[in-house]
Amino acid sequence: MTPRRSIIPVFVPHLGCPHMCVFCNQRRISGESGPATAEDVRKAIIEGRSRLGNGAAATLAFYGGSFTAIPPEEQEALLGAAQPFLRDGSISDIRLSTRPDAIDSVTLERLKRYGVRTVELGVQSMDDLVLRASERGHTAEDARRAAGMVRDAGFELILQMMTGLPGDTPERSIYTARELVKLRPDGVRVYPTVIIRDTPLYDMWRAGLYREHTTDDAVELCAIISDIFAEAGIPIIRLGLNPTDDLSEGDAVAGAYHPALGELVLARRFLTRERAELTDSDRGAEVVFAVKKGRVSAAIGQKRGNAEALRREFGVRSVRFVERDMPDVTVKRIK
Ligand code: SF4
Repeated sequence: MTPRRSIIPVFVPHLGCPHMCVFCNQRRISGESGPATAEDVRKAIIEGRSRLGNGAAATLAFYGGSFTAIPPEEQEALLGAAQPFLRDGSISDIRLSTRPDAIDSVTLERLKRYGVRTVELGVQSMDDLVLRASERGHTAEDARRAAGMVRDAGFELILQMMTGLPGDTPERSIYTARELVKLRPDGVRVYPTVIIRDTPLYDMWRAGLYREHTTDDAVELCAIISDIFAEAGIPIIRLGLNPTDDLSEGDAVAGAYHPALGELVLARRFLTRERAELTDSDRGAEVVFAVKKGRVSAAIGQKRGNAEALRREFGVRSVRFVERDMPDVTVKRIK
């Protein structure tokens, strides 16, 4: 697993995007407006360094937009602004995110030259029907090709997928997760769809052409998807959109927007395992589960949701958890 590094973020909203994906309004997602400039990069690094203090390694991260789809001279201006800071050790490396159809060998050579270590690809779905319905403008095959090129060129590869897109189903999202595993990424980000104001998806939802992917839908599905990545040894480095003031104060109109989505998904993974340990003959039982140290609250669930669900579903009298030395996200019934 990649060690955690402190991040100095620079947002490049919609820079380079050939068109609008139906769900996306990068300005509202990032809370930023206008394209980033070389001066913004310099300022972000200087501010980031003073915030982080001496010592901690820092990664400069270009988020949003489609970095490698912007004109090469603009890419070079942004990356060039970071070079003095790479040389003097103020930052240790650079990461950026882009689209699968904006990767070719010339681009990858440029990124290598400027010290980029990590390339994130917004794959979103491996189902072409879903990609079309979401107006992504690329295919699943583009994602396979780009991921292979990024990996073969020696970059760290991070893949992003979404759930609940137009045309999507739980089966299609699970297929996407399995296909992503085959591309052997170093990590993944999973973003359940959120309906954001001023997007085509918002209009589709209002017109009744798109059914909301609720937080409950997302928790159920992402618990399964998390198990797929965990079994493959691939870390999920982010689950759910980063909360921002704008999103929390109304720009996230509907869909799977929850500041603690990752915790809800973890609790659901535990609930699945707890259910598997009980049967109808446990009515009235006082059940005790062992879980890994530090995992008791996840195993109980938010507001004791898991314990309550087990009481309701199996009629058990009580559910208790104790800590033991055991693998993560496993439960063992000891009474
Ligand atoms: S999802 Fe990515 S490629 Fe699509 S519009 Fe947003 S930033 Fe651009």
